[in-house]
Amino acid sequence: MPEVSSSEVVIIGGGVIGAAIAYYLCKEGAEVMMVEEDDLASGASGACDGFVSLQTKQPGVHLDLARESVALFPELAEDLDDDIEYNPCGGMMLATMPEQLKELKARAKKMKAAGLEVEMLTPADLKSRLPEVGKEIKGASYCAQDAQVNPIALTLGLARKAQDMGAIILRGTKVENIVVTNNRVREVHTSSGSIHSRRVVCAAGTGSNQIGKMIIVDIPVMPQRGQILVTEPRERMLDVILYGAEYLGTKGGITELMPRDEEAAKLGLGFTAEQTASGNFLLGSTREFAGADASTTPEAMNAIAKNAMYYLPWIKELDVIRSFAGLRPCSPDGLPILGTVKGVKGFFIATGHSGDGICLAPITGKLLSELILDGETSLDIEPFSLYRFK
Ligand SMILES: Cc1cc2nc3c(=O)[nH]c(=O)nc-3n(C[C@H](O)[C@H](O)[C@H](O)COP(=O)(O)OP(=O)(O)OC[C@H]3O[C@@H](n4cnc5c(N)ncnc54)[C@H](O)[C@@H]3O)c2cc1C
Repeated sequence: MPEVSSSEVVIIGGGVIGAAIAYYLCKEGAEVMMVEEDDLASGASGACDGFVSLQTKQPGVHLDLARESVALFPELAEDLDDDIEYNPCGGMMLATMPEQLKELKARAKKMKAAGLEVEMLTPADLKSRLPEVGKEIKGASYCAQDAQVNPIALTLGLARKAQDMGAIILRGTKVENIVVTNNRVREVHTSSGSIHSRRVVCAAGTGSNQIGKMIIVDIPVMPQRGQILVTEPRERMLDVILYGAEYLGTKGGITELMPRDEEAAKLGLGFTAEQTASGNFLLGSTREFAGADASTTPEAMNAIAKNAMYYLPWIKELDVIRSFAGLRPCSPDGLPILGTVKGVKGFFIATGHSGDGICLAPITGKLLSELILDGETSLDIEPFSLYRFK
């Protein structure tokens, strides 16, 4: 990059959110530079599951946003040159206790009233639809609109397509400061030079807090660690994404669904399983506040493996080949932070997607593109404003 360059829009962060915004902006013909301090998908977007999940969202603005996003996946899968392994396979939430089943039934009713296709399945139904499940499983809620995608392929696919449409992607380049004069963003200082721009987007995941400080705005995003085990590949056995009811408990803070076991509660353990297109199983996951530490721990690996065998006894036959941990960019209420900042014209925020960023990336990209280029959005984003926390 020359020492001083310019761009109509600068996006900070090369995760799925930055890549989605770049893609939708480029589709509208905007001139875009994306600045990533490490590499594309080096943050949470490259260390996560690929659940495109609707039944885990709260009815209301959360679910509405997710539905708009899920509706965009088929056309993305068509338009991107990379195979993003989008699979509209449906999702099952398994209950192991009568209280959990009761709670899932109540949620299914609310979801159905909100127009989502959610049905309850008995253990007999599960027998015909899943490989053997643990004998404690009391039933499940099933949502046919849940899906899966390869999150790394999605991030890289969006970024590559944006690049083909003209976006410049600066890897290994850290944003160090943002110059604001007369209440307007003017320049972005990076580790390899300055970029003149009147429009800057913060899509920096867990780095968003630091970016906010550069313009003296508090962006309340905290890293929440999630750990995952990866097994050796097998022929296709599981064509559905699976969660345990505790997953909802730890994700949404729903007391009735929290893990009962003390160690599991401490780790924020919630069962998840998916089989990827290459045949590996991803088994998860935890929700821990461990600062910026993205390492895996023996306690969590052990707990995830034990939990996975409880839900899917046959999984013990498979070798674990690796593990990883990612840091979810968590907002105080778990919903994304989208919009503008008072008193700093030209600064936009798209962060805090917590455990939902893969699912919400397409709609985030589309809405931010509208906001940046037209000053208004096709869906009301006021509920996701930074100022809901004040
Ligand atoms: C274990 C786990 C499982 C998950 N499962 C799912 C799931 O199944 N479905 C789902 O929807 N979501 C899931 N998530 C959540 C999802 O991964 C995140 O919400 C999403 O990846 C966030 O994307 P992002 O682009 O905001 O952040 P990131 O992917 O973290 O990208 C931010 C980027 O900004 C860069 N950056 C930061 N500061 C600077 C700077 N100063 N200068 C330049 N670059 C900077 C970083 O290097 C990083 O690459 C999961 C997360 C985890 C950890």
